Amino acid sequence: MAWLDRTARAVFLTDFASAFVLGMRYFFKPKRTINYPFEKGPLSPRFRGEHALRRYANGEERCIACKLCEAICPAQAITIEAEPRDDGSRRTTRYDIDMLKCIYCGFCQEACPVDAIVEGPNFEFAAETREELMYDKDKLLANGDRWERAIAKNLELDAPYR
Ligand code: SF4
Ligand code: SF4
Repeated sequence: MAWLDRTARAVFLTDFASAFVLGMRYFFKPKRTINYPFEKGPLSPRFRGEHALRRYANGEERCIACKLCEAICPAQAITIEAEPRDDGSRRTTRYDIDMLKCIYCGFCQEACPVDAIVEGPNFEFAAETREELMYDKDKLLANGDRWERAIAKNLELDAPYR
C-alpha cells in the first residue's frame, strides 16, 4: 500500500510540474482572447453583417427599384414596392427586410447592379423583440448613412478580387 502511495504521489507531482510549466509557457505568450466589447477583432472586407441601403454623394438613393435583390433572396426576406417619380425615375416606396428570415447569404448584394443594398460591417444589432428586426426603408437608409465610410472602404478593398 505504501508503494502505491509513493507512486500516486510521484504521478501527482509529475502532472503538477508539467501543468505548471505549460501554464507558465502560455502566461508569457501574447493573449489569444480580447476584451470584447471594448476590443474587437479584425473583420474581412467581405464580412456580411447588418444590411444597409446606400446613397450617392449627392444624397440620392442608389436603389433603382429593379427588384433583383427581392427575386434572388432565397429566404424571401425582402419586400419591395415601387412607383415612378414625377421626373420619370423609378424608386421604391417600400423596402423591407425581415432580418429573422435572412440567412446572410449575400445574394442581394451580389445581384444589385448599383451597389445599393449591401451587408455592412455591423454585427452588433441584437434586439429584444421580433418587431425590431423587421427593417424598413428608413432604417436601412439610416444604416447606409451611418456605415457609408466603412462600406465604401470595404468595397474598394474587395474590388481587385472581383
Ligand atoms: S443576405 Fe441573402 S437571405 Fe439575407 S436578404 Fe440578402 S439575399 Fe436574402
Ligand atoms: S437594392 Fe439593388 S437590386 Fe435591390 S431593387 Fe434596389 S437596385 Fe435593385
